[in-house]
Amino acid sequence: MAQDDNLLKNVIAHAKEYGFIFPSSEIYDGLGAVYDYGQNGVELKNNIKEYWWKFMTLLHDNIVGLDAAIFMHPTTWKASGHVDAFNDPMIDNKDSKKRYRADVLVEDAIAKMEEKIEKEVEKAAKRFGDSFNRDMFLDTNPRVLEYRKKMDETNVRLKEAMSSNDMAAMKQLVIDLEIADPLSGSRNWTDVRQFNLMFSTEMGSVAEDANKIYLRPETAQGIFVNFLNVQKTGRMKIPFGIAQIGKAFRNEIVARQFIFRMREFEQMEMQFFVKPGEEMRWYNFWKEKRMKWHHTLGMGEANYRFFDHRNLAHYANAACDIQFNFPMGFKELEGIHSRTDFDLKSHEKYSGKKLQYFDPEDNQSYIPYVIETSIGLDRMFLAVLSSSYKEEKVNAENERIVLRIPAPLAPIKVAILPLVKKDGLPEKAQTILNQLRFDMRTYYEDKDTIGKRYRRMDAIGTPFCVTIDHQTLQDDTVTLRERDSMTQQRVPVASLGQTLGAATSMNNLLRQIQ
Ligand code: ATP
Repeated sequence: MAQDDNLLKNVIAHAKEYGFIFPSSEIYDGLGAVYDYGQNGVELKNNIKEYWWKFMTLLHDNIVGLDAAIFMHPTTWKASGHVDAFNDPMIDNKDSKKRYRADVLVEDAIAKMEEKIEKEVEKAAKRFGDSFNRDMFLDTNPRVLEYRKKMDETNVRLKEAMSSNDMAAMKQLVIDLEIADPLSGSRNWTDVRQFNLMFSTEMGSVAEDANKIYLRPETAQGIFVNFLNVQKTGRMKIPFGIAQIGKAFRNEIVARQFIFRMREFEQMEMQFFVKPGEEMRWYNFWKEKRMKWHHTLGMGEANYRFFDHRNLAHYANAACDIQFNFPMGFKELEGIHSRTDFDLKSHEKYSGKKLQYFDPEDNQSYIPYVIETSIGLDRMFLAVLSSSYKEEKVNAENERIVLRIPAPLAPIKVAILPLVKKDGLPEKAQTILNQLRFDMRTYYEDKDTIGKRYRRMDAIGTPFCVTIDHQTLQDDTVTLRERDSMTQQRVPVASLGQTLGAATSMNNLLRQIQ
């Protein structure tokens, strides 16, 4: 698994320097794992949201939106299982004083065993050349079999320890696997303790009346408790979906990877309600659809892969992640889960209200099954930013940093640049900008040399620059410069709207998914 610590560092520095992401309340030295989106960041974030929202709600007649409140009745979280089971096992290293999730340490150890198997495969492939049979090697090589046995045993022990809440068994696993602190190499660990990830606060003005309530740790429950409201008022027929974008809060134990793991973040979730027994068909349908959504952005198909869950959550009968090749390696970007009827059933039990659907075709009522697609908006932002960040040689002397952001997602679509700040060029530039601004986000700049202005636009991922010069005043043509190829061509002002509109259009991108 490729790790590129420098890339992550550079992306973080670049995101700050160019107004994408700032540490929260930075003048007070920031707040752990909380970030603010700057002037360019908010545009990129809004464009990612638009791409997701339009895909879900415009392209699917049977999916509608919802915007539920962050605060919910506290019983919601009892019913969902979060009060009792939304815990992470926490472990501290006594020497380095660093805190870790014990389950993640174990999962990393399993991933290392998998890497060792791959190394054996690579070595053997070199040795045997064309006659190498990968499947046979994996089934028969004694070393591979030994690693596999250890992986299976570890997975079983991990699952058992987690499901029975046995933190002593978790600690034993860390010891038996000889896991060392990845930073210091020390094996001097504390016991493992469970830690609930929900933030709580109090609602009500008088202390005695105040009720403990939670900041939602996921947006999904807002959808479940509104399932019947939407179904009835929207006259929705199964199968149908409810989509929502909103903030979620988790008091993460380890939050060291920039916006990959935050304590306040945004989710884009869609719950799709289906007839019981049909869930596997829809699970596979949504796996394929979501991957297509990702691939259509053009950020490299090899950067995505499915990862099937071996240890299923208590509510799921199938689950996988779409992993992305982040600077830290392949990690979860999106989860796709077949949640059975767990949530609706549980809300029925705790609320005493029926949450059933009357199926007019079968003439019977049932609690629907649910397929969930859940993607972190901030993780998607990091995927876009890290995969588009390139340091390139322009020529023998010059380098540039360019963000090759997919054009429909770019914060600014076109920069309008008068070559000089005189002779009527700024006025002409403003006229052109006023024509374009209703259809796309434009930016005007008349300071510095044109080369420096191009570099600044490259650094924030602006796909096009339009330069107005003296010839423009004579024949109404401009230079259109493209970000990735850096090619420049002379085009009539009259054609700009159409050319730029087509190349940066969100709707054209969405058409490609179909
Ligand atoms: P992880 O295993 O990385 O903690 P998870 O399996 O708990 O993630 P889900 O509960 O399935 O995550 O949440 C759905 C999506 O929300 C994830 O795929 C991820 O993109 C995003 N997400 C979850 N936790 C965070 C976080 N702390 N910061 C940013 N995004 C998050």
